[in-house]
Amino acid sequence: MIKPKPSIECMEEYVPGKQPPEKGMIKLASNENPLGPSPKAVDAIKRASGEVDVYPSSDAFELREAISEYIGFPVERIVAGNGSDGVMDTIARIFIEKDTETMIPIPTFSMYEIVTRAYGGNPRFIRRREDFSVDVEELIANLNKKTKLIFLCSPNNPSGNVIEERDVRKICESTDSLIVIDEAYVEFSDSSLIDLAWDFENLVIVRTFSKAYGLAGLRIGYGIIPEWLSKDYWKAHIPFSVSSIAISAGIAALKDENHLKRTIEVIRTGREFLLSEIPFRTFPSQANFVLVDVSPLRSKEVFSRLFERGIVVRDCSSFRGAGDSLCRITVGKMEENEKVVDALKEIYAGEGI
Ligand SMILES: *Cc1c(COP(=O)(O)O)cnc(C)c1O
Repeated sequence: MIKPKPSIECMEEYVPGKQPPEKGMIKLASNENPLGPSPKAVDAIKRASGEVDVYPSSDAFELREAISEYIGFPVERIVAGNGSDGVMDTIARIFIEKDTETMIPIPTFSMYEIVTRAYGGNPRFIRRREDFSVDVEELIANLNKKTKLIFLCSPNNPSGNVIEERDVRKICESTDSLIVIDEAYVEFSDSSLIDLAWDFENLVIVRTFSKAYGLAGLRIGYGIIPEWLSKDYWKAHIPFSVSSIAISAGIAALKDENHLKRTIEVIRTGREFLLSEIPFRTFPSQANFVLVDVSPLRSKEVFSRLFERGIVVRDCSSFRGAGDSLCRITVGKMEENEKVVDALKEIYAGEGI
């Protein structure tokens, strides 16, 4: 048999949040929207379903126009893809090959490592500090001629903290590498780094419809890229990677500001509740999840004990550099938040911690 290329053979598989095996279980493992999608998006999906015999625009132009109107960047600077994972894959496809590197502050989202390796590059990991902030001086000191991409997740998955604007400025000014800022959770945050895309030619912002818009199953992501990158982006991307149904749903979701507002309110209230009630150590969060350090217990053990009680959370031991005592809990509906808190209190008390 022919052999897959070595860069694929040495990759590790993406570990998703566990799907509940039974109906009726509470899933707080993948940061999905507890309110579901906008009803307007659902209507748009139904309407679009009658026209799936026709190809969509190859570059999701209608959706990009709607996004352009929404965020105020020209449509020429907006790209869309099959999830934000798809957008990041296209960016990696443009820049990464053998003997190139990416810079990844860990623990963080594993997709940055996966797309780096898929194209034959080497990820270089630097450790975040105890509070999960990025040591910018160390990051800059580790850049070299081979560094093509720097992945910064803000708010960071799984820790929930943001990177300061002045820190991103410092990094942008110190390198020609492309800085990719993943703002998958920005709608839940007090701040965005999007305005930096006006100031720097070496910065990309990536966002998604999977979290605040409740459309994870449809796979829609978008990015703001510098103008000079636009031509190569469209050469490298897979045509038609945003389906016609996804395009229609995305446009409708953007118009439903009320649904987004309600979602953000539910998340902020639930987040406060989890942070104040969870008996273990938690970390401040700007996202729709809360990171919990269950020491002296192991995350695997707490995962199983919650699972027995019908609750699925994310055991973070599969995140590189996260250790074995961190669990990530998605903010859910209030009754779900109450159940997970009650269960954690029982576990905490039972251990006599
Ligand atoms: C969930 C998530 C995404 C979203 O990925 P999609 O491909 O758009 O569903 C991107 N980045 C981070 C950090 C995430 O947690």
